[in-house]
Amino acid sequence: MPIQITTLSENTVASVNLLAEWGLSILVEADGYKVLMDTGRSFSAAYNAITLGIDLSQIDKIVFSHGHFDHTGGLLDILKMVKGEREVIAHPDIWALKYARRSERAMQYIGVPFPREAAETLGASFNLTKEPVWIGENIVTSGEIPMITEYEKIDPNLYVKEKDELKPDPLWDDQALFLKSEKGLIIIPGCAHRGIINTIRYAQKLTGVESVYAVIGGTHLISASQQRMDLTIAELLSFGIQRLGVSHCTGLPASAILAHVFGKAFFFNNAGTRINL
Ligand SMILES: [Zn+2]
Ligand SMILES: [Zn+2]
Repeated sequence: MPIQITTLSENTVASVNLLAEWGLSILVEADGYKVLMDTGRSFSAAYNAITLGIDLSQIDKIVFSHGHFDHTGGLLDILKMVKGEREVIAHPDIWALKYARRSERAMQYIGVPFPREAAETLGASFNLTKEPVWIGENIVTSGEIPMITEYEKIDPNLYVKEKDELKPDPLWDDQALFLKSEKGLIIIPGCAHRGIINTIRYAQKLTGVESVYAVIGGTHLISASQQRMDLTIAELLSFGIQRLGVSHCTGLPASAILAHVFGKAFFFNNAGTRINL
């Protein structure tokens, strides 16, 4: 089964003609399906697809890794190119009122930046579920990811507003895409807010496949402590990962450490990066 993974939007770009934008959008082609994992923050995914010669009108499904604006905000621009109804697979909590603490006093809304009806008018058909969704024989969305490691915690600056009260966001909506390949699992996290190791372990459990070939996407190690970094690296090494393409919320210091540890297996997965398997 040939697999192609093309990153359409990321904080940085791989080539001169593309747009960089804080966020993530990855096009996964496998099992005869074209699945768009996240849509970036605004129009960069749509713009970059045109620049890369990718016809987004052909995508079959859209998956949201979670409800933050930098993963969902490009949906309307994508839907305008799709023309027609498309299933959008996501957790129901993507519509929660999500906030981030930016300073002692400043809270910023960081949830989905458009009303649900606006997307539905343009053809979005939301499949909101907490469960995994098998898109093809070898492609599955994770659904809710159990948090089992001791050292992976959700960023304490992320909140959700319920009845005018701000509470820590449990990010139950955080999910990843898992692909089964001949070489092993390919794991595509959006932000891995519930922990990249938790995400990988759950991929193994859900698919029954032990070997992990690649991790491609956001790992949210941007604010990880030294201890969390050390424990995360030890587990990543124990999985025997052969391709580690980090993006977005991994952050530069963590990316530099991972590049050093993983050597040739490491690459920075930014907009325009394409992987063929
Ligand atoms: Zn996020
Ligand atoms: Zn993000």
